[in-house]
Amino acid sequence: MQRYDVFLECANVFAFFFGKRLAIQKLALPLRKISYKHKQMAAKTKTAFVCTQCGNDSPKWLGKCPVCGEWNTYVEEVISKSTPDNIVPAMSNFDTFHSKPILLQEIETDAEVRMDMNDLELNRVLGGGLVPGSLVLIGGEPGIGKSTLVLQTVLKLPQYKTLYVSGEESAKQLKLRAERLNTSSENCFIVCETNLEKIFTHINNVKPDLVIVDSIQTVFTDRAESSPGSITQVRECSAGLLKFAKETGTPTLLIGHINKDGNIAGPKVLEHIVDTVLQFEGDQHYMYRILRNIKNRFGSTSELGIYEMRQDGLREVNNPSELLLTQNHEGLSGVAIAAAIEGVRPFLIETQGLVSTAAYGVPQRSATGFDIRRMNMLLAVLEKRAGFKLGQKDVFLNIAGGLRVNDPAMDLSVISAVLSSSLDVTIERETCVCGEVGLSGEIRPINRIEQRILEAEKLGFKRIIIPQNNLKGFDIKRLQIQIKAVKKVEEAFRELFG
Ligand SMILES: [Zn+2]
Repeated sequence: MQRYDVFLECANVFAFFFGKRLAIQKLALPLRKISYKHKQMAAKTKTAFVCTQCGNDSPKWLGKCPVCGEWNTYVEEVISKSTPDNIVPAMSNFDTFHSKPILLQEIETDAEVRMDMNDLELNRVLGGGLVPGSLVLIGGEPGIGKSTLVLQTVLKLPQYKTLYVSGEESAKQLKLRAERLNTSSENCFIVCETNLEKIFTHINNVKPDLVIVDSIQTVFTDRAESSPGSITQVRECSAGLLKFAKETGTPTLLIGHINKDGNIAGPKVLEHIVDTVLQFEGDQHYMYRILRNIKNRFGSTSELGIYEMRQDGLREVNNPSELLLTQNHEGLSGVAIAAAIEGVRPFLIETQGLVSTAAYGVPQRSATGFDIRRMNMLLAVLEKRAGFKLGQKDVFLNIAGGLRVNDPAMDLSVISAVLSSSLDVTIERETCVCGEVGLSGEIRPINRIEQRILEAEKLGFKRIIIPQNNLKGFDIKRLQIQIKAVKKVEEAFRELFG
């Protein structure tokens, strides 16, 4: 721009001295040179280095990302052609919204009608159903059952016209999968397509109420030059789908793969674009699957959905406690039941500990479904407060069902289970515990104690051990269950092991 100004200035000077015609002739040459240079630059494919974690780009490779602070996350990518036209073509079959400013007091708040997914778990995780015009990402490791979950949900919604865009499986494979699920819908369209522009054409023809894209890593747009699954493609395509969802009010579900090391087409980049991120997790060898809400523009993120993987699909687990407790562990040491809360739902969960003499050198510490650092801290408290020498022992901890619970109230059950195994003394079948354990061995208060106690009572537990500080202002007279309030781990141990 500045250079151009300089030329104009020169032109004026030339015009003044030699007359207009000469000035233009003299100026034409350098101007042509400049435009030629521009063309050359545009023809060369431009590459940039993009952070796989946050999507930040840089002209040169960086070891550490200045935005998200991650190391070794930069990869080279061909960046998109700059085409000014709209990524979403005009949708003739849809009533598209045109954004215009409205007064705050004129915005209707009760207008939000959510789509009932006909699945209690999914509805809960979404915060009460699917919001029209929302873009939802369902992420998870390959093979965990994302496609099954989505296909099953779609088939349970015959009242909505659905377009299932598959880039992973053929129509035949999807049909076989649907047959295994034993449900069918007359309103589900399948299309195997990976080109975004063509997908929009199909969408415009079918005019669905719900769009599924399986998976976002297989979709590509002609606007970007890099290969499908690259960050640029994933970003461009999801941005296009977001625009479509917002303009037409059509809810869109994207399926996205997450690798263990997380360096393929960073779902982190996707997370910034979409409205809601659901993570489908669980161990492939366990039958339980957890649907966790990681980001939600339309509700809370503390919600959790639990499913059981079966031959004929996923079954909703509406009462997790009944499944998470071993039916009969009478007489077994190393088992403690915790009254935990995940999201808004209380449930009782079995914690299993195993302590054995270390056979080879360094003792092993292993935890499944629990933070290992937290476990090491709890073992240190146990050693200090209860005088148990665990230094030469292997300690294994397992939360039943392959579940990962982030509730600090699990602490007391963890140390109880470890101690029970170490002493080889059984904890009574009808006793459950909850409480956070502090560094000095004190039992700290936890949230929503009433819900935990009521759940334990409902499931037939006779006694619950809770933190002393939780008793304040709490009426225990109307409860059937016996409540033992404790201040220190020693007191809790005395209650449990006599
Ligand atoms: Zn970054």
